[in-house]
Amino acid sequence: MSGIGVLDLQGGVVEHLEHLAALGVPASRVKGAKDLDGLTGLILPGGESTCLTRLLHGCGLDREIAERCHAGLKLWGTCAGAILLAREVVGEVASLGLMDIRIQRNAFGSQLDSFNLTVAVPAVAPEPIPLTFIRAPKILRLGQGVSPLLEIDGYCAAAEDRNSLVTVFHPELTPSLAFHRYFAGKCGIPVPIPRIASAAWQADSWVGYAPIP
Ligand code: GLN
Repeated sequence: MSGIGVLDLQGGVVEHLEHLAALGVPASRVKGAKDLDGLTGLILPGGESTCLTRLLHGCGLDREIAERCHAGLKLWGTCAGAILLAREVVGEVASLGLMDIRIQRNAFGSQLDSFNLTVAVPAVAPEPIPLTFIRAPKILRLGQGVSPLLEIDGYCAAAEDRNSLVTVFHPELTPSLAFHRYFAGKCGIPVPIPRIASAAWQADSWVGYAPIP
């Protein structure tokens, strides 16, 4: 069965699983190579990119993800996940390096400089989308084959190429399902009705979450 996995080594996993579930998209956690079997897409969540890089390398998932990406697996990196995908990271060694972009970590300052915005992203949804930036990076250069999806004040906040999507913000921390629906479409899992999460969406729904053994 095709579906979308969420890399579950560190960072914001549950919120992505909940958004995919709200869209009716089959979703699962990816902790090891065999969890990638049968997936058409993989979300690399936000978190801490140095920590994620070490964990990916430690369990060999870095090589597995690269191989499967070259074989057609679609990838979406949110925030730290976008840093993992970048081919060039300012002042640091790149991690997976699977997308030809240059990115700068912590480009807005400290955690206290985190912020929310609501902006139009016409390629993704007809209505303006709420976005949450948490100690976010900036995309500074787009390589060949990479197109911008959202540019704000001279930097790029979302971009894509044939295989991958990167967003420097966190759509999974808002009630909007628009970016998850967009990525599902990229993975060949069309979600017919553009649905917006209802007022029932709880920003802290993950607090009481008990993982399934
Ligand atoms: N600042 C983090 C890093 O550089 C990313 C933050 C996030 O994912 N919200 O890894």
